[in-house]
Amino acid sequence: MLRQFELVERVKSYDPNADEEGLNRAYVFAVKMHGSQKRESGDPYFSHPVEVAGILTEYKLDYATIVTALLHDTVEDTPASYADIEGLFGKEVATLVEGVTKLSKIQNQAEHTRQAENFRKLVLAMSEDIRVLLIKLADRLHNMRTLHFCQKEEKRKRISQETLDIYAPLAERLGMNRIKDELEDLAFSQLHPEAYQSITSRLNFLREKGGNITEKIVEQLRKDVAEAGIEAEIYGREKRPYSIWQKMNRKNISFEQICDIMAFRVIVNTIEDCYHVLGIVHTKYHMIPGRYKDYISTPKGNGYQSLHTGVIGPFKERIEVQIRTKEMHDVAEMGVAAHWSYRENKPVTMDGKQFRWMRELLDLLNDSSNSDEFLENTKISMYNDQIFCFTPKGDLYGLPKDATPVDFAYAIHSNIGDHCIGAKINGEIKPLRTFLQNGDQIEILLSKTQTPSPEWERFVVTAKAKAAIRRFIRHQKHIQFVEFGKNLLQGLYKEEKVPFNEKELEGVLGFFKQSSVEDLYAVIGEGIVLASDIFYRVHPEQRSAFRKVVDIFRKKSKSISRKSDESNMIKGLVSGIALHYSRCCHPVPGDKIVGIVTTGKGVAIHRADCVMLKKYESEPERWLDIEWKENIMPDATFPVRLVVTVMDKPSGLATLSTAVSKVQSNISHISTASKSGSFIDVVMDVDVKNANHLEEVISALKSLSIVTSVRKEK
Ligand code: MN
Repeated sequence: MLRQFELVERVKSYDPNADEEGLNRAYVFAVKMHGSQKRESGDPYFSHPVEVAGILTEYKLDYATIVTALLHDTVEDTPASYADIEGLFGKEVATLVEGVTKLSKIQNQAEHTRQAENFRKLVLAMSEDIRVLLIKLADRLHNMRTLHFCQKEEKRKRISQETLDIYAPLAERLGMNRIKDELEDLAFSQLHPEAYQSITSRLNFLREKGGNITEKIVEQLRKDVAEAGIEAEIYGREKRPYSIWQKMNRKNISFEQICDIMAFRVIVNTIEDCYHVLGIVHTKYHMIPGRYKDYISTPKGNGYQSLHTGVIGPFKERIEVQIRTKEMHDVAEMGVAAHWSYRENKPVTMDGKQFRWMRELLDLLNDSSNSDEFLENTKISMYNDQIFCFTPKGDLYGLPKDATPVDFAYAIHSNIGDHCIGAKINGEIKPLRTFLQNGDQIEILLSKTQTPSPEWERFVVTAKAKAAIRRFIRHQKHIQFVEFGKNLLQGLYKEEKVPFNEKELEGVLGFFKQSSVEDLYAVIGEGIVLASDIFYRVHPEQRSAFRKVVDIFRKKSKSISRKSDESNMIKGLVSGIALHYSRCCHPVPGDKIVGIVTTGKGVAIHRADCVMLKKYESEPERWLDIEWKENIMPDATFPVRLVVTVMDKPSGLATLSTAVSKVQSNISHISTASKSGSFIDVVMDVDVKNANHLEEVISALKSLSIVTSVRKEK
């Protein structure tokens, strides 16, 4: 294990200004906090953070990163708190430690590899600061190096699969090939121990059989290059077991058929030298077609640059040769971390083709030509408009920022969305309008009887959820219009004393440009076509009574068209939503009201004190918080049903009617209910503008000498 002074010396070697005292304090703090905790290897636990810090010094990372590495497990695994760290080591380190802790809590539970890309994005989005990710990669590398101590095979396999799916690709994206290679080989040795064994022993066999053929080839290449007067560093290496395994799987070939297990690297000073060396290699040796790749003029997405070619080498062996400059080499091995090590000597130019991906990632698009700015811009801006959340089974869904459980439910399936009544976020019941956070685990609670609530439309952000809710509302409105239209038409048949016959309506569908009887009812309900127009088209022989009935229906249709505007009178409803005023309490403007989402009839408006609301107490998700708009159209009126007990006199009706019209109201319907002695109960619907107006009407009626009581119908 790296000792305290060694670690400090390493940091001081590349950053002479680093805060030595702070590094010492962090080391001592980690040792103290982890106390007698042990790793599975039997080593004291604090050896782990010290080794992680050691790995990061190889990449010459800054003071805050090294201190964070030392402290990275203290908040998670020891009594230390965020506040402790902030007090002792400052805000920057505390924020980084918090970032690593958050990242360590998420686990890829997903079985399918298609989820892996989302999970990598989640890790990136949660990293926020690129240094958090670098520490996490070093942490994972050390854990993989010591994974063989772990007793549980299932755990070893799970961690190895996660490393292969998530962390190795992330290292590759950051251009850190050295870490990527090591992570892959370690994971491979756990996941496929037999294959790993047979590949390594075959490699050993070839090495012995070939003698020191690698060395001989290196010698020959050195001679070739020196003859041309080029300064170069050349070494040979075997391909890694995991990349051989991948190639065997990809090309479906056996290990015996893989012959170019040797690769050679030529490191030169300039780009011109790269192409010069390539020319020499191609002149001296037979080129293998299809193996030449120029990543200098076309770098890989992660900034990797190099020339690759395959030739038949000096001893008739197939070999691969990679040619690159020193700087390209460092970038290939260390990736984004190479920027830190170059900052002392020469500024890294970000205007080249390198690090296109990193540039997006780090939001360095604005004037980032010097390395100091690069250091300051360690915040990851990629995916900050997206969040990633888990299902209880571990499936991962990407959603836009500010998404809610309803969006999540619709993302899974429209059926789940349509029937969701609640959500558990990380095990706790939360309102459906809660904003989801990265890494949340969400369980959607379902009910077969639940339907989409129009209120959802106000907070969902995904197009899928919006469309589904609108579709539902449209459908509800349609059902309501159909029902209403059919009632109107049936009423007219009744008044005309013609037996209602749905079949005969089919004959006029073409004339009214409708494709079904249902659609015909809907246009009546919506007030687009008058029921009387349809009736007299079907029964022209009834036209004599036309005048009389038209008046009745003109009046009714006026109330229909008013109906479609009704949602405009109420705050808190989506415009156009199907609604009706409940018959149990006849709410009018001025009353305190609530909305209840009903199945099939849109929203029912009740007075807040209506006794019927008791029925819905156990279903708070159906309740809508609504109120009247202040400026309701002055001429809009609402029918209220009154029961008036009145002396049975021939002039009674006229007296009532006059009284009502004196207070600017109107009786739209009247009938007698029951008679007892000389008194009669009259049921009448009066049109009123609001609650005050209703009071006026009731007072006016009560003031009449013939009236003994007036009450609103319950
Ligand atoms: Mn750790």
